[in-house]
Amino acid sequence: MSGQRYEKYSDEHFLTKTALNLGQMILFKRINDLKKYIIDSREANTTIGFVPTMGALHAGHLSLIRASKNSGYLTVCSIFVNPTQFNDPSDYQQYPITIEQDIRLLEQENCDVLFMPDVQEIYPPDHQKKQYRLGQLELYLEGKYRPGHFQGVCEVVDRLLDIVEPDLLFLGRKDYQQCMVIAELIRLTGKSTRLEIVPTMREPGGLAMSSRNLRLSEADRKRAIAIYQTLQKIKTVIRPGEINQLSKEASATLLEAGFSKVDYVSIAHAHSLAPVEYWDGKTPLVALAAAFLSGVRLIDNISLTED
Ligand code: AMP
Repeated sequence: MSGQRYEKYSDEHFLTKTALNLGQMILFKRINDLKKYIIDSREANTTIGFVPTMGALHAGHLSLIRASKNSGYLTVCSIFVNPTQFNDPSDYQQYPITIEQDIRLLEQENCDVLFMPDVQEIYPPDHQKKQYRLGQLELYLEGKYRPGHFQGVCEVVDRLLDIVEPDLLFLGRKDYQQCMVIAELIRLTGKSTRLEIVPTMREPGGLAMSSRNLRLSEADRKRAIAIYQTLQKIKTVIRPGEINQLSKEASATLLEAGFSKVDYVSIAHAHSLAPVEYWDGKTPLVALAAAFLSGVRLIDNISLTED
């Protein structure tokens, strides 16, 4: 299915593109070709930064590419819409594909390498599915509303990290739980890659950038700002002691602001993501929310204990 989606971007297309000399970025579709390139680069003592994405790139994604480039790393970006992390098949089918534009944006950022495998390359017939022991971490928050999602995320990131073997992996704080899950994956698998979490890029007004924002009307984009404002409000008012009520009030505020459904507003331990009902004033905390606006599911989070 996904193979078909990429059919028009065949090797021939890439050859044409290279011939047009649109940029310096090198595109790989095959694991073996990429691995050869990486081995050669390593022999020249190059350090590698890796930015995995599902494409439909926006300024948030590009801030990760910039973070890697600014570190002076050879920057590898992957675009792969991973079927195993979608628990809703129609969500997978509808996932936006904007490859031409993505390539242009990556070239503008001087990204060095784009890896764009098809599904068979990542999951060949002999691919063995593993079970990652993530414990409670995969059951809270997103895990509760998207069963199996984080197993799928681990499956693809484990595979991509084995292929690219980056020194540094750049992930966006926007998907905070994903960052904690991947930190755990790295620990469980004993990989030497270090994780760098890049701050959330926001629209003016505070809405976290997301490809899903494109599906919001102009009026809804204004309403959507409530999700960030509500999290900020929690940060302003939180004091040591019972904090249970704060998330309840925040959920109610989102419904009043026009959100149709709130999956969660949670105040959680910043690493384990376990919900915190009584705060000792020291435990590092994060506030996270997921809510629907005109059928679009938005997520956001902020630290409550860091500036
Ligand atoms: P995705 O293509 O949605 O899988 O996202 C690829 C990477 O971009 C993930 O590490 C995301 O957390 C990150 N990302 C997405 N949106 C933003 C944003 N607004 N700011 C910073 N990073 C982001």
